[in-house]
Amino acid sequence: MTGFVSLVGAGPGDPGLLTLKAAQRLGEADVVLVDRLVDPAVLAHVRDGAEVVDVGKTSWTGTAPRQEEINAQLVAHAKAGKRVVRLKGGDPFVFGRGSEEAEALVAEGISFEVVPGVTSAVAAPAYAGIPVTARGYTQDVCVVTGHLDPDDPASRVRWQALASGPGTLVILMGHDRLPVLTQGLIRYGRAADTPAACIERGTTPEQRVVVGTLATLADEVAAAGLKAPVATVVGEVVRLREKLEWFS
Ligand code: SAH
Repeated sequence: MTGFVSLVGAGPGDPGLLTLKAAQRLGEADVVLVDRLVDPAVLAHVRDGAEVVDVGKTSWTGTAPRQEEINAQLVAHAKAGKRVVRLKGGDPFVFGRGSEEAEALVAEGISFEVVPGVTSAVAAPAYAGIPVTARGYTQDVCVVTGHLDPDDPASRVRWQALASGPGTLVILMGHDRLPVLTQGLIRYGRAADTPAACIERGTTPEQRVVVGTLATLADEVAAAGLKAPVATVVGEVVRLREKLEWFS
């Protein structure tokens, strides 16, 4: 009999942000394929005797197994009749390539479910005292990938449009390119004095936050030596941190 795959969000870091359903699925799994740095407290939900496979061993910046290999492993375990949990950071469908894994399962006729997780795009700002929307500040928020330069022909992010509005931008995977991303936003029309913040390892005890403006943030982050994973928030809502900072 063919097994079943749960694509499960592990949340952004704080193990308390794991959903009840995620904990339940971890307890039922025969095999758990783990993404990068998942807190050991999350893996404590895995039952004794279950196999835990680290498919993102190296580091946040190092090379992980190719996506095709992970897809192949998922398919192989499911075809062996196992209950498989694919545990992914944050939410599986927010820049997690969860959709590609789901497509691979569909292509092989394997049943699956998605257990959404708390995404770092919202949770890291929240733990920094920054609401991504706030009445009177902005009514829209856009989560974008910063893994390509704004001027890279391969980039399909509409930086020009995003720069022109007042909306909150949450940039994931943009830490390496912070100087070009912030300069690009200024060049495309966002005010240089727009408040902006970077949150390193949000929701964990190691969380660090650097606040500046679009003009200053990249230098301040370099000076502070922030390392991935880092979420960047741009917009007037960053001002609220002064009042709402609660986690330290
Ligand atoms: N699916 C994940 C995002 C995967 S992309 C989610 O929903 O959260 C990986 C990027 O997420 C990192 O480069 C970083 O920008 C962000 N990220 C993940 N965990 C984070 C954390 N604890 N604090 C800050 N940013 C984080």
